Amino acid sequence: MSLVALSLGSNLGNREENLRKAIEKLRLVGSVIKVSPVYETEPYGYFDQPKFLNCAVLLETQLKPDELLNKIKSIERELGRKEISHWKERTIDIDIVLLEDLIMETPSLTVPHPDMQYREFVLKPLSNIAPELVHPVLKKNVKELLEELNRVPYVDFVTAKPGKFFIAVLDGKVYETSFRELKGRREKNALLLSLKKSFENYFQGERVAFEEYELCWERVTPFHRKVYEYLRKNVTYGKVITYGELAQGVGSPRGARAVGNAMARNPFPIIVPCHRVLQRGNKLGGFGGGEDWKKYLLELEGINI
Ligand code: ADP
Ligand code: MG
Repeated sequence: MSLVALSLGSNLGNREENLRKAIEKLRLVGSVIKVSPVYETEPYGYFDQPKFLNCAVLLETQLKPDELLNKIKSIERELGRKEISHWKERTIDIDIVLLEDLIMETPSLTVPHPDMQYREFVLKPLSNIAPELVHPVLKKNVKELLEELNRVPYVDFVTAKPGKFFIAVLDGKVYETSFRELKGRREKNALLLSLKKSFENYFQGERVAFEEYELCWERVTPFHRKVYEYLRKNVTYGKVITYGELAQGVGSPRGARAVGNAMARNPFPIIVPCHRVLQRGNKLGGFGGGEDWKKYLLELEGINI
Protein backbone atom coordinates (compact mmCIF):
# COMPACT_ATOMS: atom_id res chain seq x y z
CA MET A 1 0.00 0.00 0.00
CA SER A 2 1.27 3.45 -0.72
CA LEU A 3 -0.05 6.86 0.10
CA VAL A 4 -0.22 9.14 -2.89
CA ALA A 5 -0.86 12.88 -3.03
CA LEU A 6 -2.73 13.92 -6.13
CA SER A 7 -3.43 17.36 -7.47
CA LEU A 8 -6.62 17.91 -9.45
CA GLY A 9 -7.46 20.89 -11.57
CA SER A 10 -10.20 21.89 -13.97
CA ASN A 11 -10.72 25.03 -16.01
CA LEU A 12 -13.22 23.97 -18.62
CA GLY A 13 -16.90 23.13 -18.50
CA ASN A 14 -18.58 22.51 -15.17
CA ARG A 15 -15.46 22.62 -13.07
CA GLU A 16 -16.94 21.47 -9.71
CA GLU A 17 -18.62 18.61 -11.45
CA ASN A 18 -15.40 17.61 -13.18
CA LEU A 19 -13.52 17.48 -9.88
CA ARG A 20 -16.33 15.58 -8.21
CA LYS A 21 -16.54 13.01 -10.99
CA ALA A 22 -12.78 12.57 -11.02
CA ILE A 23 -12.78 11.89 -7.28
CA GLU A 24 -15.59 9.36 -7.72
CA LYS A 25 -13.51 7.57 -10.31
CA LEU A 26 -10.44 7.68 -8.09
CA ARG A 27 -12.39 5.72 -5.50
CA LEU A 28 -12.11 2.76 -7.88
CA VAL A 29 -8.34 3.16 -8.03
CA GLY A 30 -7.73 3.05 -4.27
CA SER A 31 -9.05 4.37 -0.98
CA VAL A 32 -9.59 8.08 -0.99
CA ILE A 33 -8.33 9.05 2.46
CA LYS A 34 -8.77 12.81 2.28
CA VAL A 35 -10.06 15.43 -0.08
CA SER A 36 -9.10 19.07 0.32
CA PRO A 37 -11.45 22.00 -0.09
CA VAL A 38 -11.68 23.36 -3.60
CA TYR A 39 -9.76 26.54 -4.38
CA GLU A 40 -10.26 28.84 -7.29
CA THR A 41 -6.93 29.92 -8.64
CA GLU A 42 -6.05 32.76 -10.87
CA PRO A 43 -4.23 31.89 -14.06
CA TYR A 44 -1.48 34.39 -14.68
CA GLY A 45 1.57 35.50 -16.53
CA TYR A 46 2.43 33.37 -19.45
CA PHE A 47 -0.37 30.97 -19.08
CA ASP A 48 -3.45 33.06 -19.60
CA GLN A 49 -6.50 30.89 -19.62
CA PRO A 50 -9.77 30.56 -17.68
CA LYS A 51 -9.60 30.31 -13.92
CA PHE A 52 -8.98 26.94 -12.41
CA LEU A 53 -10.62 25.06 -9.64
CA ASN A 54 -8.08 22.96 -7.80
CA CYS A 55 -8.10 20.45 -5.03
CA ALA A 56 -5.84 17.77 -3.61
CA VAL A 57 -6.59 14.16 -2.81
CA LEU A 58 -4.81 11.64 -0.63
CA LEU A 59 -5.16 8.21 -2.05
CA GLU A 60 -4.04 4.89 -0.72
CA THR A 61 -3.42 2.38 -3.44
CA GLN A 62 -1.77 -0.91 -4.20
CA LEU A 63 -1.04 0.03 -7.76
CA LYS A 64 2.48 0.55 -8.99
CA PRO A 65 3.34 4.10 -10.07
CA ASP A 66 3.00 3.44 -13.80
CA GLU A 67 -0.26 1.58 -13.29
CA LEU A 68 -1.56 4.47 -11.26
CA LEU A 69 -0.54 6.91 -13.98
CA ASN A 70 -2.39 4.86 -16.57
CA LYS A 71 -5.55 4.85 -14.45
CA ILE A 72 -5.25 8.59 -14.02
CA LYS A 73 -4.81 9.12 -17.73
CA SER A 74 -7.89 7.09 -18.49
CA ILE A 75 -9.92 9.10 -15.98
CA GLU A 76 -8.71 12.27 -17.69
CA ARG A 77 -9.72 10.85 -21.04
CA GLU A 78 -13.12 9.69 -19.88
CA LEU A 79 -13.99 13.04 -18.37
CA GLY A 80 -12.42 15.07 -21.12
CA ARG A 81 -14.18 13.40 -23.97
CA LYS A 82 -17.65 13.65 -22.60
CA GLU A 83 -17.55 17.38 -22.16
CA ILE A 84 -15.89 18.93 -25.15
CA SER A 85 -14.78 16.65 -27.91
CA HIS A 86 -12.56 18.76 -30.12
CA TRP A 87 -10.87 20.91 -27.58
CA LYS A 88 -7.31 20.14 -26.86
CA GLU A 89 -7.62 21.32 -23.28
CA ARG A 90 -8.78 18.80 -20.82
CA THR A 91 -11.62 19.33 -18.45
CA ILE A 92 -9.53 17.70 -15.79
CA ASP A 93 -5.86 17.43 -15.01
CA ILE A 94 -4.71 14.95 -12.42
CA ASP A 95 -1.09 14.93 -11.37
CA ILE A 96 0.80 12.67 -9.06
CA VAL A 97 2.47 15.06 -6.68
CA LEU A 98 4.07 12.82 -4.08
CA LEU A 99 4.15 9.08 -3.68
CA GLU A 100 5.59 8.17 -0.29
CA ASP A 101 9.36 8.64 -0.53
CA LEU A 102 9.51 7.63 -4.14
CA ILE A 103 11.92 9.49 -6.40
CA MET A 104 11.65 8.53 -10.04
CA GLU A 105 12.14 10.05 -13.42
CA THR A 106 11.07 8.29 -16.59
CA PRO A 107 9.82 9.77 -19.87
CA SER A 108 6.23 9.27 -18.76
CA LEU A 109 6.42 9.90 -15.04
CA THR A 110 8.37 12.13 -12.73
CA VAL A 111 7.76 11.88 -9.00
CA PRO A 112 7.74 14.10 -7.01
CA HIS A 113 5.99 16.24 -9.60
CA PRO A 114 8.81 18.49 -10.85
CA ASP A 115 6.84 21.72 -10.54
CA MET A 116 5.02 21.12 -7.29
CA GLN A 117 7.20 23.47 -5.29
CA TYR A 118 6.46 26.31 -7.70
CA ARG A 119 2.71 25.89 -7.76
CA GLU A 120 0.50 27.48 -5.19
CA PHE A 121 -2.49 25.71 -6.66
CA VAL A 122 -0.84 22.39 -5.79
CA LEU A 123 0.64 23.29 -2.42
CA LYS A 124 -2.28 25.21 -0.97
CA PRO A 125 -4.90 22.49 -1.25
CA LEU A 126 -2.39 19.85 -0.27
CA SER A 127 -1.22 21.71 2.78
CA ASN A 128 -4.80 21.69 3.91
CA ILE A 129 -4.95 17.90 4.11
CA ALA A 130 -1.32 16.84 4.36
CA PRO A 131 0.92 19.68 5.54
CA GLU A 132 3.48 17.28 6.97
CA LEU A 133 4.15 15.25 3.84
CA VAL A 134 7.81 15.61 3.02
CA HIS A 135 9.30 16.20 -0.41
CA PRO A 136 11.93 13.47 -0.55
CA VAL A 137 14.37 15.52 -2.61
CA LEU A 138 13.92 18.98 -1.14
CA LYS A 139 13.49 17.54 2.35
CA LYS A 140 10.82 20.06 3.19
CA ASN A 141 7.23 19.42 3.99
CA VAL A 142 4.29 20.76 2.05
CA LYS A 143 3.58 23.50 4.55
CA GLU A 144 7.17 24.72 4.38
CA LEU A 145 7.18 24.63 0.60
CA LEU A 146 4.03 26.73 0.53
CA GLU A 147 5.47 29.28 2.92
CA GLU A 148 8.57 29.47 0.85
CA LEU A 149 6.64 29.95 -2.35
CA ASN A 150 4.80 32.92 -0.94
CA ARG A 151 7.90 34.70 0.14
CA VAL A 152 9.16 37.69 -1.67
CA PRO A 153 12.89 38.06 -1.43
CA TYR A 154 13.22 41.72 -0.76
CA VAL A 155 16.08 44.05 -1.34
CA ASP A 156 16.28 47.33 0.43
CA PHE A 157 16.18 49.43 -2.62
CA VAL A 158 17.54 52.75 -3.52
CA THR A 159 17.55 56.11 -1.92
CA ALA A 160 14.89 57.32 -4.23
CA LYS A 161 15.02 60.92 -5.10
CA PRO A 162 12.62 60.99 -7.97
CA GLY A 163 14.48 61.97 -11.05
CA LYS A 164 14.62 61.44 -14.72
CA PHE A 165 17.44 59.00 -14.83
CA PHE A 166 18.72 56.04 -13.04
CA ILE A 167 22.16 56.75 -11.76
CA ALA A 168 24.77 54.22 -10.92
CA VAL A 169 28.07 54.81 -9.30
CA LEU A 170 30.58 52.24 -10.32
CA ASP A 171 34.27 52.36 -9.44
CA GLY A 172 33.87 55.96 -8.45
CA LYS A 173 32.39 56.93 -11.80
CA VAL A 174 28.84 58.15 -12.13
CA TYR A 175 26.73 56.60 -14.85
CA GLU A 176 23.42 57.79 -16.04
CA THR A 177 20.93 55.83 -17.99
CA SER A 178 17.45 56.37 -19.24
CA PHE A 179 14.74 53.82 -18.81
CA ARG A 180 14.93 53.02 -22.48
CA GLU A 181 18.57 52.11 -22.23
CA LEU A 182 17.92 50.15 -19.14
CA LYS A 183 15.47 47.96 -20.98
CA GLY A 184 17.23 47.51 -24.24
CA ARG A 185 20.91 47.41 -23.70
CA ARG A 186 21.31 45.57 -20.55
CA GLU A 187 24.57 43.75 -21.17
CA LYS A 188 26.52 46.77 -22.28
CA ASN A 189 25.24 49.04 -19.63
CA ALA A 190 27.47 49.74 -16.70
CA LEU A 191 24.55 50.41 -14.45
CA LEU A 192 23.15 47.02 -15.15
CA LEU A 193 26.41 45.27 -14.73
CA SER A 194 26.83 46.79 -11.33
CA LEU A 195 23.23 46.12 -10.47
CA LYS A 196 23.63 42.54 -11.54
CA LYS A 197 26.69 42.18 -9.42
CA SER A 198 24.80 43.61 -6.47
CA PHE A 199 22.03 41.12 -6.98
CA GLU A 200 24.48 38.28 -7.23
CA ASN A 201 25.95 39.29 -3.93
CA TYR A 202 22.49 39.68 -2.50
CA PHE A 203 21.52 36.19 -3.56
CA GLN A 204 24.67 34.85 -2.00
CA GLY A 205 23.41 36.22 1.25
CA GLU A 206 25.52 39.33 1.46
CA ARG A 207 24.22 42.57 2.73
CA VAL A 208 23.99 44.83 -0.27
CA ALA A 209 23.42 48.54 -0.39
CA PHE A 210 21.48 49.64 -3.40
CA GLU A 211 21.51 53.31 -2.71
CA GLU A 212 23.43 54.23 -5.81
CA TYR A 213 20.33 53.80 -7.92
CA GLU A 214 17.75 56.44 -8.35
CA LEU A 215 14.19 55.80 -9.22
CA CYS A 216 12.43 57.42 -12.11
CA TRP A 217 9.01 58.10 -10.68
CA GLU A 218 7.55 59.00 -14.03
CA ARG A 219 7.63 55.37 -14.93
CA VAL A 220 6.09 54.04 -11.80
CA THR A 221 2.40 53.17 -11.77
CA PRO A 222 0.40 54.34 -8.75
CA PHE A 223 0.13 50.77 -7.57
CA HIS A 224 3.83 50.09 -7.77
CA ARG A 225 4.53 53.40 -6.16
CA LYS A 226 2.32 52.43 -3.26
CA VAL A 227 4.14 49.14 -2.92
CA TYR A 228 7.45 50.88 -3.10
CA GLU A 229 6.51 53.42 -0.44
CA TYR A 230 5.13 50.71 1.77
CA LEU A 231 8.33 48.71 1.53
CA ARG A 232 10.49 51.69 2.26
CA LYS A 233 8.46 52.72 5.25
CA ASN A 234 7.67 49.41 6.87
CA VAL A 235 10.20 46.86 5.86
CA THR A 236 13.71 46.81 7.13
CA TYR A 237 16.68 45.71 5.15
CA GLY A 238 16.69 42.11 4.08
CA LYS A 239 13.35 41.30 5.60
CA VAL A 240 11.36 38.75 3.72
CA ILE A 241 7.67 39.36 3.43
CA THR A 242 4.88 37.54 1.71
CA TYR A 243 2.78 38.78 -1.16
CA GLY A 244 -0.15 38.37 1.22
CA GLU A 245 1.37 40.80 3.71
CA LEU A 246 2.19 43.14 0.90
CA ALA A 247 -1.40 43.03 -0.36
CA GLN A 248 -2.62 43.85 3.10
CA GLY A 249 -0.05 46.54 3.63
CA VAL A 250 -0.92 48.46 0.50
CA GLY A 251 -4.62 47.89 1.06
CA SER A 252 -5.04 45.87 -2.09
CA PRO A 253 -8.27 43.90 -1.96
CA ARG A 254 -6.98 41.72 -4.73
CA GLY A 255 -4.99 39.40 -2.55
CA ALA A 256 -1.60 37.82 -2.63
CA ARG A 257 -1.71 36.21 -6.01
CA ALA A 258 -2.90 39.34 -7.77
CA VAL A 259 -0.23 41.40 -6.06
CA GLY A 260 2.35 38.82 -7.06
CA ASN A 261 1.18 39.14 -10.64
CA ALA A 262 1.33 42.89 -10.51
CA MET A 263 4.83 42.73 -9.12
CA ALA A 264 5.83 40.43 -11.94
CA ARG A 265 4.77 43.21 -14.31
CA ASN A 266 6.61 45.73 -12.23
CA PRO A 267 8.58 48.05 -14.48
CA PHE A 268 11.08 48.26 -11.65
CA PRO A 269 11.94 44.75 -10.69
CA ILE A 270 14.67 46.25 -8.58
CA ILE A 271 12.07 46.99 -5.98
CA VAL A 272 11.38 43.33 -5.55
CA PRO A 273 13.97 41.70 -7.69
CA CYS A 274 13.09 38.11 -7.43
CA HIS A 275 9.81 36.54 -8.28
CA ARG A 276 9.27 32.88 -8.24
CA VAL A 277 10.15 31.24 -11.47
CA LEU A 278 7.45 29.06 -12.85
CA GLN A 279 8.13 26.41 -15.37
CA ARG A 280 5.68 24.53 -17.42
CA GLY A 281 7.11 22.16 -19.97
CA ASN A 282 9.97 24.20 -21.23
CA LYS A 283 8.09 27.48 -21.04
CA LEU A 284 8.74 29.91 -18.30
CA GLY A 285 6.32 32.15 -16.58
CA GLY A 286 5.91 34.36 -13.59
CA PHE A 287 7.55 37.36 -15.17
CA GLY A 288 5.74 39.97 -17.12
CA GLY A 289 8.45 42.55 -16.74
CA GLY A 290 10.16 41.90 -20.04
CA GLU A 291 12.27 39.16 -21.51
CA ASP A 292 15.52 40.69 -20.40
CA TRP A 293 14.60 40.85 -16.79
CA LYS A 294 13.24 37.38 -16.92
CA LYS A 295 16.40 35.92 -18.37
CA TYR A 296 18.54 37.74 -15.98
CA LEU A 297 16.60 36.83 -12.88
CA LEU A 298 16.48 33.24 -14.03
CA GLU A 299 20.20 33.29 -14.38
CA LEU A 300 20.50 34.54 -10.84
CA GLU A 301 18.28 31.72 -9.67
CA GLY A 302 20.66 29.34 -11.38
CA ILE A 303 18.14 28.17 -13.94
CA ASN A 304 19.37 27.56 -17.45
CA ILE A 305 17.18 28.65 -20.26
P1 ADP B 1 0.42 19.23 -16.90
O1 ADP B 1 -0.01 18.33 -15.80
O2 ADP B 1 1.76 19.86 -16.67
O3 ADP B 1 -0.64 20.22 -17.30
P2 ADP B 1 -0.17 17.01 -18.64
O4 ADP B 1 -1.20 16.64 -17.67
O5 ADP B 1 -0.58 17.19 -20.07
O6 ADP B 1 0.62 18.32 -18.20
O7 ADP B 1 0.97 15.95 -18.52
C1 ADP B 1 1.60 15.42 -19.62
C2 ADP B 1 2.36 14.15 -19.22
O8 ADP B 1 3.10 14.34 -18.04
C3 ADP B 1 1.50 12.95 -18.90
O9 ADP B 1 1.20 12.27 -20.09
C4 ADP B 1 2.40 12.12 -18.00
O10 ADP B 1 2.94 11.02 -18.67
C5 ADP B 1 3.51 13.06 -17.63
N1 ADP B 1 3.85 13.09 -16.22
C6 ADP B 1 5.10 13.10 -15.74
N2 ADP B 1 5.12 13.13 -14.42
C7 ADP B 1 3.84 13.15 -14.01
C8 ADP B 1 3.22 13.17 -12.73
N3 ADP B 1 3.94 13.20 -11.61
N4 ADP B 1 1.87 13.18 -12.68
C9 ADP B 1 1.15 13.18 -13.82
N5 ADP B 1 1.67 13.14 -15.06
C10 ADP B 1 3.01 13.13 -15.16
MG1 MG C 1 -1.12 16.43 -15.70
